[in-house]
This record gives sequence, C-alpha cells and structure tokens, in this order.
Amino acid sequence: SPFIEIDDVHMVYQAESGPVEALRGINLSINRGEFVSLVGPSGCGKSTLLRCIAGLRPVTGGRIVVDGAPVVKPIPKVGMVFQTAIMLKWRTVLDNVLLPTELYGLKPADFRDRAHDLLKLVGLGDFAKKRPGELSGGMQQRASLCRALILDPPILLMDEPFGALDAMTRDEMNLELLRIWGEQRISEGAERKTVIFVTHSIPEACFLSDRVVVMSPRPGRVASIKPVQLPRP
Ligand code: ADP
Ligand code: ADP
Repeated sequence: SPFIEIDDVHMVYQAESGPVEALRGINLSINRGEFVSLVGPSGCGKSTLLRCIAGLRPVTGGRIVVDGAPVVKPIPKVGMVFQTAIMLKWRTVLDNVLLPTELYGLKPADFRDRAHDLLKLVGLGDFAKKRPGELSGGMQQRASLCRALILDPPILLMDEPFGALDAMTRDEMNLELLRIWGEQRISEGAERKTVIFVTHSIPEACFLSDRVVVMSPRPGRVASIKPVQLPRP
C-alpha cells in the first residue's frame, strides 16, 4: 500500500468572513521514496494539503494515512519546510534546528552532532552559534531545511521553499537541495526520502522530481504527469 494515502480529502477553513473551502475531494497516493512535485495556480490548496499531511490542520472530510496510520497530529516521521523560514529570533541557529527534538520530548543533546553535520552540509557550519537575524533569507531557509531533517524523517514536505528568494539565491538553494537529496540516496543503507515539493516552477519540478502532480482549482481534482526526465548534474 502507498506510503502516503490521501483519500477524498476535504478541508474548510473557518475564517472570520465565513467558511472557506480549500480542498474538495482530493485523492493522491505516494509511494515510499518517491519525489513528487506539486504545482497548480495560486489559491488551489497546495499549502493547505501540505499542512494537512503534516498534521498541522485537521481535514474536515476524508482522511490522510501516513505509513498505515491516519494523520491526527504532527509526527516526527514528517519534516516540513515552510514558504518563509519561521525561526525563533532569540535562539541560536543551532537551537532552532534542535527545536523538533523538544516538541517530541527527545533530548536535544542527543541530536547536537547531527545538527552540526546538517548545518555543514548546507554550508552553515560556521553559523551554528549565530542568531537567525544575522543570516540572509536564503541562509535561514537552509537552516529550516536542517530543522526539518533533524529527526531524520522519512517524509519531507517543502512548501515553495525558494518562493521568497531572489533568482540567484534560488539557484544556490536548488544545488543545496540536490546535494542533500543526493546525500540521502547514497548514504549507505539509508532509504531515499519521500518528498512532496510545492513549487511554481515547472522546470524545477521536472528537474527534481519523479512525478509532477498538477492540482486544479476546486473541484480539487489532481492530474498526474510523468515528467520528461532532464539530465541531473
Ligand atoms: P499561498 O502563497 O500559499 O497562497 P497566501 O499568501 O495565500 O499563501 O497566504 C499566506 C498566509 O495567509 C497563510 O498563512 C494562509 O493560511 C493565510 N491565508 C490565506 N488566505 C487566507 C484567507 N482567505 N483568510 C485568512 N487567512 C488566509
Ligand atoms: P495555494 O498554496 O495553492 O496557494 P492555499 O492552500 O494557500 O493555496 O489556499 C487555498 C484556499 O484556502 C485559498 O482560497 C486561500 O485563500 C484559503 N486559505 C488559506 N489559508 C487560509 C486560512 N488560514 N484561513 C482562511 N482561508 C485560507
């Protein structure tokens, strides 16, 4: 059975102005180790779907099953990178990366070496003791990728992680991402992560993923596209 199963999912926000229907009957199955890009026009519900998979928002109909268990709250198995890096500004970069350990009642000290390794991997080895405010937007975004990976989750959700960055930083981030993704694939015994990547860039989607999923505005049908595989560096 699929690793992530999205079964007739509905989601309605209760806004001050009244209910806002964000998802209507979404069905999608994702296999273990698949890298899926999710594209679609602004407002079609991509962010909402990711938040629901991460357990940050309850679905109002249907269900989402991750590794055999229905999603009812955030779980360590799922790491998420948001559109903008949301970091606690009074904490060091290192302590921000370690945040998920506290949320799940684990000992931060047990993950300190891994945090340093991850920061090195994204070129932030010298910034562990800095505050987020001393880092550029792109650097903060790389730090949030480390935070998403700190518990070594088998599932990584990325919501337009490069959306707010300028073109040059975007290119750098892409290379970083490829490196980290590659790292997961080649490290011995390690399983490839299952990734859902929301992006506005079709070339980025085709370049990075095994499958591009196109979400249309409500009614929330999704169409699946197998991308032309572009050569990877
Ligand atoms: P996206 O780029 O994913 O479409 P938006 O810019 O639409 O994101 O939304 C930014 C923030 O505002 C998000 O936290 C989202 O939940 C919230 N938001 C979006 N639309 C509404 C709305 N109609 N009412 C209240 N909050 C909203
Ligand atoms: P996308 O990520 O594809 O741009 P979103 O998931 O952000 O789409 O939004 C889907 C719909 O839900 C939009 O109509 C948006 O305005 C609405 N929405 C998003 N966040 C909120 C929120 N916090 N409160 C109310 N409505 C929201």
